[in-house]
This record gives sequence, C-alpha cells and structure tokens, in this order.
Amino acid sequence: MSYRIKITVTDSFKKSYLNNRFIIAGAETSEVSPGYMEGAIHSAFNVYDQIKKIKE
Ligand SMILES: Cc1cc2nc3c(=O)[nH]c(=O)nc-3n(C[C@H](O)[C@H](O)[C@H](O)COP(=O)(O)OP(=O)(O)OC[C@H]3O[C@@H](n4cnc5c(N)ncnc54)[C@H](O)[C@@H]3O)c2cc1C
Repeated sequence: MSYRIKITVTDSFKKSYLNNRFIIAGAETSEVSPGYMEGAIHSAFNVYDQIKKIKE
C-alpha cells in the first residue's frame, strides 16, 4: 500500500522576522519539490526576491 502525502508550506515560511533580519529558507520549506535540490534552489530565489523587496 502506498500513501501520497501533500505537504503544505504555511505562510510562516514566507514571512521575515526580527525586523527583516531573519528569513527562513531551504529545501524543506519550499512549495516546489520540498526536500530536494530543486526545492532548495526555488527557496533561494524566493528569499532573493524577498530581500530585494526589503532593500527597495
Ligand atoms: C544522502 C542524501 C542524498 C540526496 N540525494 C538527492 C538527490 O539525488 N536529488 C535531490 O534533488 N536531492 C537530494 N538530496 C536532498 C538535497 O541534498 C537537499 O534537499 C538540499 O541539499 C537541501 O539544501 P538546503 O540548502 O536547503 O540545505 P543544506 O544543503 O542542508 O544546507 C544547509 C547548510 O547550512 C549549514 N548550517 C547548518 N546550521 C548552521 C549554523 N548554525 N550556522 C551556519 N551554517 C549552518 C549546513 O552546514 C549546510 O551547509 C539528498 C540528501 C541526502 C542527505
């Protein structure tokens, strides 16, 4: 028997904390391919976008 688990990344991983000084990123927090390299890269791009917005 096999199970398919849908992992939902909550909004907590999309927020920044401590006055924009703490941002969570990594394969495990990615909406795309969580737990894999693709997820890690996707997550990194998201954080890049977040930081860019903060700096603007
Ligand atoms: C055995 C194995 C095989 C895998 N095979 C595949 C595969 O074939 N294909 C695939 O897509 N994925 C594979 N993965 C998963 C893939 O490696 C991960 O999804 C990816 O590396 C996660 O990247 P990340 O940047 O989120 O985290 P990580 O690569 O874990 O990077 C986190 C970094 O933070 C550093 N760190 C931790 N704590 C601190 C601290 N306090 N201060 C400073 N630095 C810290 C760590 O040393 C590490 O360098 C595999 C994983 C394992 C374990």
